[in-house]
Amino acid sequence: MATSTPFLFALEGRSNFLILTFMLWSPERMSDFLIPLGGYYMGLALDEARSAAEKEEVPVGAVVVFNGRVIGRGHNRREELQRPFAHAEILALEDASLHLKSWRLHECTLYVTLEPCIMCVGAILQARVQRLVFGCLDPKGGAVESLYRLCEDSRLNHHPAVTRGILEKECATILSEFFAGLRSNKRIANSGE
Ligand SMILES: [Zn+2]
Repeated sequence: MATSTPFLFALEGRSNFLILTFMLWSPERMSDFLIPLGGYYMGLALDEARSAAEKEEVPVGAVVVFNGRVIGRGHNRREELQRPFAHAEILALEDASLHLKSWRLHECTLYVTLEPCIMCVGAILQARVQRLVFGCLDPKGGAVESLYRLCEDSRLNHHPAVTRGILEKECATILSEFFAGLRSNKRIANSGE
């Protein structure tokens, strides 16, 4: 697990002074403040997704942020580990829990490139994650907006704040390029080349 800070991002652009003032004033909300400014943390989640793609796994990546620091990382490793639970979010949440030595992640934000599935939203609720930020929708399996809206189900006892669409295009592109590559490889194999 690596630790990252958003200083490189924050030191760019015209709003340096305002951003740094806000960070000093309210460091625990720094990650929320940075969300609309550039998706720094989603960029790190995309790095995780690229790691998955390099292993020929479906490229989904996630990071967990606490007080502005990345304390958990994960990418999809289902094929590598042959485990049905080895989704990016689960691995990042486990990493964060180990770091904090607690199952309660109620002050953490989870960034993930793809809308989480039923299992991963279940884990997000169990871990009491404060905020979920995701990149693109998953029309076939998403449990935040697409198929179910579990984060706002009044029958459940935890409702994380949700932000979507951060680096949406990049998050969708890495997936579409991965599946286009698979189809292309299949065509080549079928043609006997
Ligand atoms: Zn999942």
